[in-house]
Amino acid sequence: MSLKIYLDGKFVPEEEARISVFDHGILYGDGVFEGIRAYNGRVFKLKEHIDRLYDGLHALMITPAESKEEMIKVVTETCKVNNFSDCYIRLVVTRGVGDLGLNPVKCKKSSTFCIAAQIAIYPREVYENGLEMATVPTRRNHNESCNVRVKSLNYLNNIYARIEANLIGVPEAVFLNSEGYVSEATADNIFIIKNGVITTPPLSVGTLGGISRQTVIDLARAKGYEVKEALFTRYDVYTADECFVTGTAAELVPAVKYDARVIGTGKPGPIFNDLLATFKEYAQKPEAGEPIL
Ligand code: PMP
Repeated sequence: MSLKIYLDGKFVPEEEARISVFDHGILYGDGVFEGIRAYNGRVFKLKEHIDRLYDGLHALMITPAESKEEMIKVVTETCKVNNFSDCYIRLVVTRGVGDLGLNPVKCKKSSTFCIAAQIAIYPREVYENGLEMATVPTRRNHNESCNVRVKSLNYLNNIYARIEANLIGVPEAVFLNSEGYVSEATADNIFIIKNGVITTPPLSVGTLGGISRQTVIDLARAKGYEVKEALFTRYDVYTADECFVTGTAAELVPAVKYDARVIGTGKPGPIFNDLLATFKEYAQKPEAGEPIL
């Protein structure tokens, strides 16, 4: 079955969804993207994703053709024309066509495309038994060079870490920042739990402001858990009772081994299981997102 792709104002079959080789999104990774999910006929936290996208565009001084309201419609329509009520969505805005020099002022018009499809990041046994992770040599991009809060098309920092995880032979990598604090996984935020307190690094460590991260913080606090945004090191992960990662594509994944050390009991823990159940229940609710009408 051929997907219908939104591309600059039109829906086109995937075979015809093409962008120029002169687009600076391709030549320089100059652009931003979002990974979004739809559950049960609603696009989860769509307004939050659109706000993050437009913040990134603003920082990079890229002006999309679509207003925020139009962009919300682009995403819900892409789900609708493909008959998806549950799917993964990739929304991309590139700098657009320029010449072979990198100066963005030569690019007169940005391009927007949106794909809705299915995705599975890890096999089912990882969700049931837990994920193994390892620290990789590549450090997370420094906030003063390439701020990771912009979800830019330049994901080479993450791809280096992904390659290193493959070489180590584990399914996921953990980045440290340039000062040695734990920052995040390759496409997921990280949480640890010790003595009932849930901790995740603050955004200032150099980590993406994950929509799933914020949802878990809000849901956990509403349930009465203490949640801290605080710096921590590898030692804190080694000695945690529980650990997990969050991201739109992977969703909530328990982590049970890190740098060859077993975390806690080596099984997904009770607080993680409670947060997972809470998240799953919340994701089905009307207030969790924008309807696909
Ligand atoms: N960190 C990075 C580097 C990511 O690419 C992602 C996925 N977008 C996340 C964290 C998780 O963010 P979210 O929950 O918004 O998907």
